[in-house]
Amino acid sequence: MTSSPSPSFAEQLPTLDWVTDALKVARLSQDFFWFSPVLKRQLQGLCADGVVRPRTEDDVRQIASFCARNRLPLTLRGAGTGNYGQSVPLQGGIVMDMSAFNGMLWQRPGVARAQAGIRLGDFNRLLQDGSGQELRWLPSTYRSATLGGLFSGGFGGAGSITYGPLAAPGNILGAKVMTLEEHPQVIELRGAEAMRLHHMWGTNGIVLEIEVALAPAHEWLESIGVFDDFEAALRFADAVARNPGLVKKEVAVLADPIPAYLTALKAHLPAHRHAVLLVHAASGESTVEALAAAHGGAISYRQSHAEAQAGGHTLIEYAWNHTTLHALKVDKGLTYLQTAFIPGKHIEQVLRLKAMFEGEVLMHVEFIRNVDGHLTCTALPLVRFTTEERLAEIIAQHRAEQVRVNNPHTFIIEEGKQGGDLAPELLEMKRRLDPHGLLNPGKMRAWPALGPQEQTA
Ligand SMILES: Cc1cc2nc3c(=O)[nH]c(=O)nc-3n(C[C@H](O)[C@H](O)[C@H](O)COP(=O)(O)OP(=O)(O)OC[C@H]3O[C@@H](n4cnc5c(N)ncnc54)[C@H](O)[C@@H]3O)c2cc1C
Repeated sequence: MTSSPSPSFAEQLPTLDWVTDALKVARLSQDFFWFSPVLKRQLQGLCADGVVRPRTEDDVRQIASFCARNRLPLTLRGAGTGNYGQSVPLQGGIVMDMSAFNGMLWQRPGVARAQAGIRLGDFNRLLQDGSGQELRWLPSTYRSATLGGLFSGGFGGAGSITYGPLAAPGNILGAKVMTLEEHPQVIELRGAEAMRLHHMWGTNGIVLEIEVALAPAHEWLESIGVFDDFEAALRFADAVARNPGLVKKEVAVLADPIPAYLTALKAHLPAHRHAVLLVHAASGESTVEALAAAHGGAISYRQSHAEAQAGGHTLIEYAWNHTTLHALKVDKGLTYLQTAFIPGKHIEQVLRLKAMFEGEVLMHVEFIRNVDGHLTCTALPLVRFTTEERLAEIIAQHRAEQVRVNNPHTFIIEEGKQGGDLAPELLEMKRRLDPHGLLNPGKMRAWPALGPQEQTA
């Protein structure tokens, strides 16, 4: 069901940039939740009553104050590439599209600060050109996704093999936030306090600016290794990932038949082979080649990252949840999971899981350093979907094998990556920054959805 944007918003806040086209309002109310058949059933068609695009901090302040005074739900949106309906307004109200609030503020050796709506690809380029530095992590959606969206709804991505997820202390240094009150306050949060808004889906504060730690820029090379044997591919990827002498950004393993879904790379992916996608420093070329040969594989593709970026897609855009996206273009009967393995047991666990669900769960592994710095892997395995009951069974079987599942088939924050009850300090932040409970209502189990009397008050 879609509704037209309320003209009264634009009448009451006439200086702001309101989206007036009903189809655009409907589109800007949705994200990539459709990767999940469960979320698709639950969220398709939900729509905001209005979408607004702030350009300045004062625009954001006007919107926050307006929502507080009128007890209107406010849902933030970056580029809407989230996978769990994070930016879908469950109870109507206003969607605030942050993509025009996108200034780069400053960059210094090792650290930079930007407004939340900046696209990660733009931010990265400004850093490379400006100071020979780059972001520590890029989600595979980096061309469109925003800094605020990654911080509030994402995990990490390419780069997490070296720097861990965003959640690793030291990656995010600070955030400037705004309260959702009649008279909004602007507050600077540092370190651990800023992290209380990380992966909270915009439920406990409006993020205006983020300060991030940086990495030195490298000349990156993209390579694909192909292997007859899955275990050999996995052990090669593990050897690349753990080699301290090799500077790398991306290490992913795709079990046969997943490479066949990457149709644009068909020439480099021989049939019925397992593939390892790598982005590493160009200086590591011969090391990678020798490691591939030692594991019985070969390098089938090599291209400079800069050329790949200029001419089409980088290998990063075939990894992480882009693998799922490419697969869904070929086979709509697929969905996916998000899992994490125990460091030190990760190889054994991946092999066991692969064997347990052969043919039904297709293994896609992403190597990372975890939040404590241990080398391990996460996975975004593809699942041949049959029923919601079977999906729940597969999740339960993973958990029985001590494999963590960050359930991507729920829009309740506690049931996803947060994995259980929210820590008291997260709820305290919600009370402090969103005392009326108007931010993205309905996503937080611990904070009851607004009652009708409050909505109309
Ligand atoms: C094909 C595909 C591949 C992906 N690959 C990756 C990956 O490699 N790594 C990864 O971590 N994720 C990945 N994702 C998920 C998603 O793309 C990323 O998390 C991305 O960074 C989200 O950015 P966005 O700007 O699109 O945020 P949105 O989807 O617009 O928003 C995400 C959440 O943040 C909130 N939010 C946005 N801006 C603000 C703000 N200023 N203040 C407070 N809250 C805010 C929104 O309300 C929402 O809850 C992938 C998704 C897809 C569809």
